[in-house]
Amino acid sequence: MAVLHNPEATQADNSEAASDDLADASNDNPELDQCQFCGTHVTEQFRRVFGDDQDIVHRCIECDTITRLQKGTGAGRDVNHTDPADEPWRLRNSHAKAGGAFQ
Ligand SMILES: [Zn+2]
Repeated sequence: MAVLHNPEATQADNSEAASDDLADASNDNPELDQCQFCGTHVTEQFRRVFGDDQDIVHRCIECDTITRLQKGTGAGRDVNHTDPADEPWRLRNSHAKAGGAFQ
């Protein structure tokens, strides 16, 4: 009479993955080393150039275009240019590789 095991529960148990905390950064402020938008690691120089007053980078070349970064998106400002996060294909045509004059 007593059905102790629910087959569905057993399946759910099998599918449970070993979820260790892989995001182990040996840094006091790991988030400050990362783009606040996409989490990409950014260099200290990049933070100084494009970051805000506290050298915190809100956007980086991985998730935004150089054009927008130069206008202040890295410091968290809103600019008039279209956000590539809204139109991802723009990143492929971005000026991230810089130059354009060297062909
Ligand atoms: Zn980013």
